[in-house]
Amino acid sequence: MTMTEIVIPFANPGTQFQSRRKEILAATERVLNSGWYILGNEVRTFEKEFAEYLGVQHCIGVGNGTDAIALALLAVGVKRDDEVITVSQTAVATTAAIEQIGAVPVFVDIEPETRCMNPELIAAMVSPRTRAILPVHLYGQPARMPEIMDVANRFDLPVVEDCAQAHGAGIAAEKVGTFGDAAAFSFYPTKNLGAIGDAGAVVTDSAEIAERLRGLRQYGWQERYISSFPGLNSRLDELQAAILRTKLPFLDESNDRRRIIAARYDAVAGEAHFKPPVRIAGTHHVMHLYVIEHEGRERLQTALREQGIGTAVHYPKPIHQQPAYAGRIRGCDNLPCTEWLSKRILSLPMFPELTDGQVEQICFAIAGQTQGRITY
Ligand SMILES: *Cc1c(COP(=O)(O)O)cnc(C)c1O
Repeated sequence: MTMTEIVIPFANPGTQFQSRRKEILAATERVLNSGWYILGNEVRTFEKEFAEYLGVQHCIGVGNGTDAIALALLAVGVKRDDEVITVSQTAVATTAAIEQIGAVPVFVDIEPETRCMNPELIAAMVSPRTRAILPVHLYGQPARMPEIMDVANRFDLPVVEDCAQAHGAGIAAEKVGTFGDAAAFSFYPTKNLGAIGDAGAVVTDSAEIAERLRGLRQYGWQERYISSFPGLNSRLDELQAAILRTKLPFLDESNDRRRIIAARYDAVAGEAHFKPPVRIAGTHHVMHLYVIEHEGRERLQTALREQGIGTAVHYPKPIHQQPAYAGRIRGCDNLPCTEWLSKRILSLPMFPELTDGQVEQICFAIAGQTQGRITY
């Protein structure tokens, strides 16, 4: 069998560099010329601009999204052996971040509409060791934050939001990242706001949590060379901050473009017999990924590949079924919705630089394939 060349990739961060090439190269040159490469004016300014964009008081740039989660958990008071309630239907980074600080993940199931943490299942998993709740706004869809905050307040538990897939998403007028005590963002190149390398940030309204984070990201320093408490090295660098500053003004526009592409895919859902991602009334879904549910996922994926269209599965196995975690996370034996969903999901190509022509080609391929119109 010959492999057809992929002509429409599932994601393509290089096209975003090409479309913003001039600004990005100018920002890069500005930083290189400045001679100041770590924690300087670019990071400070990006932190201010991103905090303003979200409507939050403080932003602390860190090395990547996984560190952002780990440091946010430490900053809200999570310690070794404390339990953190989260979901198994997420990127492995969420769980890895919890274990990175010696804390213990506990899984609750998702709900079928949002595919995010089911607020009704949290209370049953709270134990005397529970120290935080970590919901994930998966695929660009906000989790049910008002309901999650109610449970958290009832048990007096801090909440850290994993916003790595949801830059600009929101509920009513409030953006995700502003509901919990702190929130973690990743700027991995394919995210809705992406750097050209690793980058991340934590945001919070609490001056105290922000202060702790500024120390934690740099050896626990509050004054230079003097560690007030044990910290680590996880800094956002000047180059990435300058590049992110060129892209932030276009974040809403590129999220809008993702939503236009999503609406085109929606239009063939009936014909192609797939279930599109649900948009909850009053919430703003930013379509980090366009994840369909389809009974014949493998067949559809193969057929699209043979027409040169790339797809992906996020994620092929939920965390509790991956070898590193299988059988040892509390809650892993009661995740029916997670397991049901993981067998049906397929992510269609989704990035703002997809052309209208490419989107039409994808729609035609999906609809044609399921009706047997296209033979191969
Ligand atoms: C990407 C991602 C992360 C981790 O971000 P990195 O910058 O790659 O470390 C965490 N959580 C979720 C849900 C993600 O998608």
